Amino acid sequence: MNDGLAAGFKAIATASLALGLCNCAVTTHDVRPSALGVPRSSSAMEAHLDEPGIVEVETVAAADWVVQLSGLLNLDDPKAKAAGLVDREEPIQIYFHALRHPKRGLYLVDTGVEKALRDDPGRSALGPLVRSYMSLSKMTVRVDTRSWIAEQKRPIDGVFFTHLHLDHIAGQADVPRMVSLYTGAGEASDTRFLNLFVFRSTNDALEGCEPLNEWSAQKDPDGRFDSVTDIFGDEMVWALRTPGHTAGSTAYVVRTPKGPVLLTGDASHTRWGWDNGVVPGSFSTDIEASKKSFLALKDLAARHPKMDVRLGHQR
Ligand SMILES: [Zn+2]
Repeated sequence: MNDGLAAGFKAIATASLALGLCNCAVTTHDVRPSALGVPRSSSAMEAHLDEPGIVEVETVAAADWVVQLSGLLNLDDPKAKAAGLVDREEPIQIYFHALRHPKRGLYLVDTGVEKALRDDPGRSALGPLVRSYMSLSKMTVRVDTRSWIAEQKRPIDGVFFTHLHLDHIAGQADVPRMVSLYTGAGEASDTRFLNLFVFRSTNDALEGCEPLNEWSAQKDPDGRFDSVTDIFGDEMVWALRTPGHTAGSTAYVVRTPKGPVLLTGDASHTRWGWDNGVVPGSFSTDIEASKKSFLALKDLAARHPKMDVRLGHQR
């Protein structure tokens, strides 16, 4: 977001709070408990995690983008200060991941970037204010979601969202309307003032889709994660609730023939942050919760050294 726009948002936020205007949810799209997925414990997940699985993961870099480092990293962290990191523009990428399960089909984790956002922004599900907020002039779309889906040999069976921020739902308008959508518990209902500016675009991206299916919020009996869901009940794909970046942020663990793959979502955006143990910055809603979730993922990766860790926005 550019400085003038940020100042504008801040002024509107201050005025609205003074007037007593309410916070709102990121979307008013319907939400229901997911019929898919079985709540389990993290020890049950980890028992067979290093054994070869059957699901293939393809990570697609949908776009190159540039955002402020202070959003991606907590620059107040002593390690960031010691490294001399100051706020600046940081190159990142927008990813989506394709999970190919031989028995259950083709699933996306997040959605990449809508074709119209590049080719005809006025027709995009993302409105002008949101497009301005995203600084589209700093984004280069490599692969649009509509074209990618058209090249697949089979239809998409579902989308697993890491969270509902714009850069993760930006390709949703290209996903066929009958595809089932899944998100973390509490993600869609959490209220924030800034949602006032994005909920219409989120609603438009989801228009005509069935209700969002929420993963279970049942607590991990081992206490390592907030909650752990075995998505297909076959111990191949797991949803880990990792609140902090957003209320319902979710990481995914996939057992592939080459070993486990961890898709962190925006629990960790950057390579430097992951390697140095520094959590995301101002793009996150709750830094303390974010730190807890981040450390839980780091510990998981440390217990499984062969785990292939794929971060939210950098390789
Ligand atoms: Zn993101």
